[in-house]
Amino acid sequence: MGKMDIINLLRDIVREEGIGTYLVGGYVRDKILGIDNKDIDVTVEGNAKRVAELLSNRLGVGIKRTSQFGTYILFASAYRIDIATARSEQYPSPGTLPLVEPGGILEDLSRRDFTVNSMAVPIGTDTVIDLFNGLNDLKKRLIRVLHGKSFSEDPTRIFRALRFAERMDFQIEKITMSLIEEAIEKGFLSKVSTARIRNELTLCLMEKKRWDLLNRIAKLGIFKQLGMVYPGRNFLQELEEFAIKFMIEPESLYFIAFADGGKNRNFLTKKETKFLNSIEILYKKIPCLKKKEKREDIFTILEGFPHPSLIYIGVKMSIREKISLYLEEIEPVRLEITGNDIRGMGISNGKEIGEILRSVKRKRLSSSLSSKEDEMNYVKEILKKNQDNDI
Ligand code: ATP
Repeated sequence: MGKMDIINLLRDIVREEGIGTYLVGGYVRDKILGIDNKDIDVTVEGNAKRVAELLSNRLGVGIKRTSQFGTYILFASAYRIDIATARSEQYPSPGTLPLVEPGGILEDLSRRDFTVNSMAVPIGTDTVIDLFNGLNDLKKRLIRVLHGKSFSEDPTRIFRALRFAERMDFQIEKITMSLIEEAIEKGFLSKVSTARIRNELTLCLMEKKRWDLLNRIAKLGIFKQLGMVYPGRNFLQELEEFAIKFMIEPESLYFIAFADGGKNRNFLTKKETKFLNSIEILYKKIPCLKKKEKREDIFTILEGFPHPSLIYIGVKMSIREKISLYLEEIEPVRLEITGNDIRGMGISNGKEIGEILRSVKRKRLSSSLSSKEDEMNYVKEILKKNQDNDI
């Protein structure tokens, strides 16, 4: 199933049903630029559900999701098809989600972000509906808003403008740029929910030229405005490399870096907050860790900390070698004995068993134990010592 097959099916549906249906947004932009876009944006004047259902039947795929604004999402081979109802939008205040009403295609194009994203092609035709001179801006490689209130209506468009400009190597048109600066200065971004900010930053981090993009975002003072920290591209790149080496998903680490030392942590997930808390404990242990060379001592300090926290601290405190040693050679060492063996020796307290196993592992790392028998004998020694201390 190719892209043209999907569009031909849509054309048939539109002819049979007589519903005004358009290719829009990023799909049209990229088509004119000759870029292959796997997202097909479709807008329907009226019953989007009907078009989505008919297309889903003919493609033999289900409707995967529907969004709050009546958008139906289908996946067919490599393509994602978004079918939305044409709508008009009103923004009651900056940063909040808009009030939405069904509308015609012209209203729908007028609610969009930039001129290059506001063109439509009626399905089955080659005509470009271009109310805002998007074609001209595409030629001039410019990102331009449709009106002066665009960023106050929806400040997330600031990220979108920067993202598109960086990705396509476009300039941000002069007035648009000054509107961005003004919106930042007026603090509009702080009115946007943290979930939406996080989503925008995640999209930025998915871009090929993400480091240039983040530098630009930082230079505009956006991180600062949001109470976040920008640790610089070198740090983030090193973090990414080190995380990938240990098969850790880097996304969480970027966000931890944006929160570490900043005023705002609300954008972190619960798990990331836990990681950051343990990073703060690790910070205090680093001076001691730096002095230790023996494996058993490194084990004692780092044991139990989550891997993402260790990766982060490794880069942040320039102790990657020690963290690598721990993750590659110390932590994976498995004992021959288990908790059950210790239980078999009459100890039932879980905490005590854990402590004994840790002691055996420390001894094992100092390489004086090499068999199960050695380990069992060492446990006996510990138990005897404990008994003597009790007396
Ligand atoms: P990408 O290639 O990153 O997916 P896209 O232009 O397809 O870029 P989407 O986020 O998929 O971006 O949005 C599709 C279209 O919806 C955009 O081209 C634009 O017309 C419109 N749009 C999306 N987000 C906004 C927004 N915040 N404000 C106004 N219009 C928007």
